[in-house]
Amino acid sequence: MRIVDSHCHLDDPRFDEDRQAVLDRAWAAGLVSLLAIGTGEGPPDFAAGIRLAEADRRIYASVGVHPHHAGRVAEGWANALRACSRHPRVVALGEMGLDYHYNFSPPEAQREVFLRQLELAAEEHKPVVIHTREAWADTIALLQQVRPPAGGVFHCFSGGPAEAEDAWELGFYLGLGGVITFPKAHALREAARLAPLDRLLLETDAPYLAPVPHRGKRNEPAFAADTLRRVAEERQMPVETLAEATTANFERLCLRYTR
Ligand SMILES: [Zn+2]
Ligand SMILES: [Zn+2]
Repeated sequence: MRIVDSHCHLDDPRFDEDRQAVLDRAWAAGLVSLLAIGTGEGPPDFAAGIRLAEADRRIYASVGVHPHHAGRVAEGWANALRACSRHPRVVALGEMGLDYHYNFSPPEAQREVFLRQLELAAEEHKPVVIHTREAWADTIALLQQVRPPAGGVFHCFSGGPAEAEDAWELGFYLGLGGVITFPKAHALREAARLAPLDRLLLETDAPYLAPVPHRGKRNEPAFAADTLRRVAEERQMPVETLAEATTANFERLCLRYTR
């Protein structure tokens, strides 16, 4: 079985003690690739994911400015980001987007930094990893404005069928993580059942949002297998078929242009 975790924060300090053991458990659980999200704190820390990807061929990296950090970008950040995005192990830009739940950065700054990254992704022909929380309409509006040609994924998708339709209309994927195993996620499970098989990705967002039965603990890439089983059960399809399809989707979205 081939599983991909399309979104994890391997650079998180919570993995400092046992990062290699975490990776070993991931490979043992059937994972073949990981996308290490390298948001860090913006410049000069864009390379957090790249350093991990350089150490293991099964790890790929993304670079981007998380909406939480949009208010703190330094002068010249977009050029620094562009330079990092050209590293051969960088296969996507992000995570980027809008988060009006926390508003750790002013919404105006979030929109500005998001838009600039969408333009960069279009110029560099990279797919985008979108983080959106309580900001669906504004997120969709900016995506419709730029329409990044290499597409992207709504990471940790937590909407229902209507939001899923918006994503597919843009040609985007839904990133399904631990939330889908939570008891109250009925609308999300409905979207996951309705989704075309070629629109789904698996992710963990580790160390956050561990799926049942690990809920509340530190999440790790190996737990993508728990989410995989739950989604397969919802869709009443073999686990192996879903694993193969979501892996092929990741490869189509992110690895098409890698050397
Ligand atoms: Zn996120
Ligand atoms: Zn994340």
